[in-house]
Amino acid sequence: MDHLLTADERAFRDELAATLRRIVPADLRDRNAADRELARDDFVAAQKALHAAGLAVPHWPAEWGGRGWTATQRFLWMHEIQVAGVPQPLPFNVDMIGPVLCAFGSGAQKARFLPATAALDIWWCQGFSEPGAGSDLAGLSTRAVRDGDAYVVDGQKTWTSYAQHADWIFALVRTDPAAPRKQMGISFLLIDMGTPGISVRPIRTADGRHEVNEVFFDSVRVPAANLVGAENRGWDVAKFLLANERHAIAGVGLCRLRLGRAAALMAAPGPGGRRAADEPALAGRLARHEADLAALETLQLLALKGLPAGAFGAAEHAASVLKIRGTELQQATTELLLDLAVRVRPEAADDAARGYFSMRKVSIYGGSNEVQREILAKAALGV
Ligand SMILES: Cc1cc2nc3c(=O)[nH]c(=O)nc-3n(C[C@H](O)[C@H](O)[C@H](O)COP(=O)(O)OP(=O)(O)OC[C@H]3O[C@@H](n4cnc5c(N)ncnc54)[C@H](O)[C@@H]3O)c2cc1C
Repeated sequence: MDHLLTADERAFRDELAATLRRIVPADLRDRNAADRELARDDFVAAQKALHAAGLAVPHWPAEWGGRGWTATQRFLWMHEIQVAGVPQPLPFNVDMIGPVLCAFGSGAQKARFLPATAALDIWWCQGFSEPGAGSDLAGLSTRAVRDGDAYVVDGQKTWTSYAQHADWIFALVRTDPAAPRKQMGISFLLIDMGTPGISVRPIRTADGRHEVNEVFFDSVRVPAANLVGAENRGWDVAKFLLANERHAIAGVGLCRLRLGRAAALMAAPGPGGRRAADEPALAGRLARHEADLAALETLQLLALKGLPAGAFGAAEHAASVLKIRGTELQQATTELLLDLAVRVRPEAADDAARGYFSMRKVSIYGGSNEVQREILAKAALGV
């Protein structure tokens, strides 16, 4: 992608790449790059190292730690984090609730939460999806009823990533069941996970890990001061948040990292001295994925050129294409890595299998790929 960058952007990227390798320990980067499961402390250590270097929230407004970068610089920041194997700053903190509070939070909410959110002193989780509300998120039914200076919350969230680690959850709740449109009766609440009445139940996924959970609310009292934006206007907040979520999911840097590992496995002699690179079908797959990645990088950079960093959400249709193609490529590269590990380095096959299973999720969350195709089809047909 060098030809798409200016000399200044290339220098910016190279300096970033060197800084990331200096400030985040190699052991942590290697474990993350190899798709090993990380502990809470690993994520916190990585984000604190980034934060100390001014690299945890460069896309936030300047008064809360932002750097005033262009959209291209922001892309290069995430790309280099991924290529270096650095655990990404927690998206629930830095891409979701942080920008939401900057845009919609009260002065008191900003002062209370933003510094701790940037430093990962508070770990947030996202309470949007429910058993009956995923793609059709506005159909959610968790209720919040006003009682004096508090809301009383009852209901259930599901697929809540890392709820087992979380200190706080930001949740969409129904505050007006009688609203004429279901989008209109929803509010956005900040809820302390330590509040009586909250329980978390793990969901084990196909990769054997504990990443997602069910979260239950049983008469949970939430101070009314924890409402973000106006009551019954939470859908506006949610739409803002989801637009920010989608741009980061393409995972261009992750594909670059994994294709680099695939190329190394290709060239390595396997049992009997035979190299995978000598098998045309495997070599062809790597070449095809390299070409797809070059196309993806080009599309992403062209979509961003000239946009300020905060304008990601506006490029909605480019974001849908990037989400679909990026997640398909993430799945294809982990599949190739698994096939190569089985042939060339069987002792690495367990990690490769976990990476393969783990990437099945990426075409589902952040707005499923089928729903993204529907968005694109409607835009193309003008309906
Ligand atoms: C690993 C993982 C982590 C997650 N983490 C979180 C989290 O932290 N917080 C949170 O709130 N949520 C989280 N989610 C939930 C995620 O956002 C939902 O899974 C997603 O929105 C899809 O909703 P659903 O699972 O209810 O599937 P459904 O909406 O029931 O969809 C089922 C199938 O139907 C298809 N479909 C649905 N509608 C349409 C349509 N209009 N046109 C064509 N096809 C359609 C979908 O593409 C899908 O294939 C996570 C999910 C996963 C897998």
